[in-house]
Amino acid sequence: MADETVDLGRRGFLRGRRRPEPAPLRPPWSRTDRFTDLCTRCGACTDSCPEGIVRRGDGGFPEIDFQRGECSFCASCADACPEPVFDRSTAHPWTLAVRIGPSCFATHRIVCRSCRDACPESAIRFALAPGGVAVPTVDDGACTGCGACQAACPADAITLRPGPETAHAP
Ligand code: SF4
Ligand code: SF4
Ligand code: SF4
Repeated sequence: MADETVDLGRRGFLRGRRRPEPAPLRPPWSRTDRFTDLCTRCGACTDSCPEGIVRRGDGGFPEIDFQRGECSFCASCADACPEPVFDRSTAHPWTLAVRIGPSCFATHRIVCRSCRDACPESAIRFALAPGGVAVPTVDDGACTGCGACQAACPADAITLRPGPETAHAP
């Protein structure tokens, strides 16, 4: 199975294909499974976000951009939306998983604790890995997916992506 994945990737590369872009992150509490059906692209959520992290994305649909800042979960976006795009009754605003990629300075033995220092939940800890290098690990139970660690990372190593359980029931 793994060999097939590599072969397909090589084939795509040789044909000049690029990897598909990851799905955009939608605002918290939004019905991600029906988002483009329900959203009219009015821009009310974009205008209401005090952190400026909701921007007009592909096709004019709102997307979260954590390079601009973090989500404070103020719910202004959900309150401003005139359409049934948001569901405030869900237990979690979203379930985003933090991934720390190979460009992380710490994994290259360069001292950096920027993500840990930026995290308001103290969800990032550094632990010794084989070879004696202290690398960041994320406590998924403590992480809220606020995104503060992404912009703080000087190596551009952090991304947040939806977990499979983020899809709302239709
Ligand atoms: S909850 Fe608040 S900070 Fe987060 S995206 Fe919505 S308006 Fe912006
Ligand atoms: S306020 Fe609602 S309908 Fe308007 S752009 Fe945002 S999500 Fe779409
Ligand atoms: S997304 Fe927020 S809570 Fe989660 S690790 Fe990053 S800074 Fe901490």
